[in-house]
Amino acid sequence: MSKEQNWKPVIDKFNSKLANWKARSISYGGRLTLVKSVLSSLPLYYFSLFRAPLSVIKNLESIRRNFFWVGTGECSKLSWVKWDEGLLPYEDGGLNIGSLSGKNLALLGKWFWRAKIEPKTLWVLIKSVMIEKMDIKFASSFSKIIGDGSDTRFWEDPWVCGLLVREVFLKNRLTPIKVAIFIWRALKRRIPVRIELDKRGIDLDSVRCPLCDDDVETIEHTLIFCRHAMDIWVRVYKWWGLGTVSNLSIDEIFRGKCNRSLSPLWSSIWQAIEWTCGYLIWKNRNQKVFSDSSWSGPTGLMEIQLKSFEWISNRLKNRKLDWLGWISKPWSCLV
Ligand SMILES: [Zn+2]
Repeated sequence: MSKEQNWKPVIDKFNSKLANWKARSISYGGRLTLVKSVLSSLPLYYFSLFRAPLSVIKNLESIRRNFFWVGTGECSKLSWVKWDEGLLPYEDGGLNIGSLSGKNLALLGKWFWRAKIEPKTLWVLIKSVMIEKMDIKFASSFSKIIGDGSDTRFWEDPWVCGLLVREVFLKNRLTPIKVAIFIWRALKRRIPVRIELDKRGIDLDSVRCPLCDDDVETIEHTLIFCRHAMDIWVRVYKWWGLGTVSNLSIDEIFRGKCNRSLSPLWSSIWQAIEWTCGYLIWKNRNQKVFSDSSWSGPTGLMEIQLKSFEWISNRLKNRKLDWLGWISKPWSCLV
C-alpha cells in the first residue's frame, strides 16, 4: 500500500461520493458536517491498516477542500480560509475538521497502543511486524505517558502529535453551524468585504461601505462601526438592559469574553445573541448588495429577537424560553 496506485479505489470512492451531492445547494454547515463525517470516514478501513503516502493524503485533502469551499468543482469561488487552518481544533482557531494524515496516524497508533497493553495476543505479534515496517515513530509522537493504558482515553487525550482525536463540536451549541462558521471566518478576517476582495485583485467599482458610503468597507466597519451596524448593537444592548456598547473589536464581541459574572448557561445565551447579531448584520449587508434592500433599525432588532429565540429555544435542553419575556425582560424569561 505504499504505492499511490494502490490507493486508487479510495480516491475513486471519494470522488464518486461527491458526484452524488450537489454541494452548491448545501450550506456551509451542511458541507462541514459531510466533510467531517462521511468524507473523513470513507478511508477509515484503509487508514486503520496502512500508512497512506503523502501524495494520496494531499489528493484526498484537496478533494475535501474543493467540496467544502467550491462545491463539486462547478465554479471557482475563492477559498477564504486556508484549508490547513480549517483542519485545526477549535482551540487553535480551526473548524476542527481534523487532518486525514492525523487520522491515519491516530488509527495506526491505536494498534501501537493496544500492542502495549495486550502484548501477548496473536494479532499483536502479527501487527507489530507491520508497525515496525511502517517506520512510524509512534513512541516519540505520544504526548502523554500512557502507562498501562487504563488512565488514557483514546478519543479524548491529545496523545498523537498533540492532536485531539475526538470530534468535538463548535463551542456555542445554541446557534446553527452556519452561524458558528460565519463567526469563525469573521475572527479569521476572512469575510468577503470589499477591501478584502480588492486585496485579492478583484475589480470593484468602489471599496466603500455599500450601506453608508461613509468609509472603506472593512470587516470591523461592516460588523461594528458602520452606523447601520452600530444602530443594531445599541438596540440589542438596550434590549438586554446593558447600557452602552462597550466591546469595540471583533475579537471582544465574538470570542465572548464578557466582564459580567454570568452562569455558563447565560454566557452561552448572550454569546448566541452576539453571534446572531453579527450573522444577521452580514446578511443584511448582502441583501443590500445583491437585491438593494435592507432593514430599518426596528426591523433589524425584531429579526434578531425572532431568530435568536427560534435558534436558542430549539436547542435548550430541559428549559424553555417564553417569547413575551424574551422580548421584554430577557434575563428572566427562562422557565
Ligand atoms: Zn457603513
